[in-house]
Amino acid sequence: MEPKIIDTFGRPHTYLRISLTDRCNLRCFYCMPEEGIELMEKPSIMTLEEIIEISKTYVNLGVDTIRLTGGEPLVRKNFEYLVRELSKLSITLKLTTNGILLDKYFDLFEEIGLMKINVSLDTLDKAKNAFVTKRDYYDRIMKNIQDGISRGFHIKLNVVLIKGVNDKEINDFIALTKDQHVDVKFIEFMPFKGNKWDWSKGVSEEEILKIARSAFGQVEALPNPKHSTSNNFQVEGHQGSFGIISTITNPFCSDCNRIRLTADGKMKNCLFANSETDILSPHRKGESIDQLIMDTIRHKKHSRDGMDLKMDADQYENNRSMISIGG
Ligand code: SAM
Ligand code: SF4
Repeated sequence: MEPKIIDTFGRPHTYLRISLTDRCNLRCFYCMPEEGIELMEKPSIMTLEEIIEISKTYVNLGVDTIRLTGGEPLVRKNFEYLVRELSKLSITLKLTTNGILLDKYFDLFEEIGLMKINVSLDTLDKAKNAFVTKRDYYDRIMKNIQDGISRGFHIKLNVVLIKGVNDKEINDFIALTKDQHVDVKFIEFMPFKGNKWDWSKGVSEEEILKIARSAFGQVEALPNPKHSTSNNFQVEGHQGSFGIISTITNPFCSDCNRIRLTADGKMKNCLFANSETDILSPHRKGESIDQLIMDTIRHKKHSRDGMDLKMDADQYENNRSMISIGG
């Protein structure tokens, strides 16, 4: 399908990330504010049928990849029905999950060909995992990751690096790529509503590479696939690779092809955009949303919704919390 969602910088948008819910079975402190969030009222959340219909509209406008996220996408009721229906579209279907419930779905994912799964795992230490997530699911998550790799799923581990929490584990994560086909994505800590962001807690791409080189010597830069949001590297002789999503210090916006849809049906042009377009209400009234989607993308700014390196608190505190955007 010819891409039709094109912004004023000529970027075709072919990758849609849909948040299925703002509910989650973990409470990662960098994602979910300590005081919690005001959960979306059920009637305001897209039904499964609405998600399917709206997805079809995006696909007709040229979207070829859909990633399901959340909150935790696997806690959404009747998730199986939804992915079965979405897998019938001519798209690559992907998933971002905290991994807790993966064991319930591996067979289904194999059957429908959903093989690309990002799993959040910030630490290899059980006690620290409980500190970060405020829950105790470490053993189940680790087992699911191992099982996923053994079954041939393409597993990427998302690691949000925070000083004093997991920055000493960078090389332990890279060591995981030695004998296994697993990719590790280090993510620079990003600011969202209520997450007490402060860049002095963040670990930059430059620091990560310095730490990696101190242990593994020269690491090879891999060619970045088109629209990649990370700079990718591999230690010589390792089967897997590692990448760095440097949204703060070196954002990858010039080639951005991503759009987001929140669980309550709001289209966001950028993770950091405060402005949102209500797609769901006109869809519920039976109106066509094609033109609305194409018009919305024309308001997309070039980079990080206009936020500069200082990351203006007035802007991100008026954004949603990450848990209700869908990272
Ligand atoms: N629950 C699923 C999970 O944890 O993978 C999907 C939703 S979660 C919001 C998606 C991704 O956003 C996760 O990889 C998480 O680590 C990342 N994330 C959340 N808050 C973040 C922050 N403040 N900075 C950078 N990444 C963040
Ligand atoms: Fe839940 Fe994922 Fe956010 Fe952790 S990062 S609180 S698992 S949505």
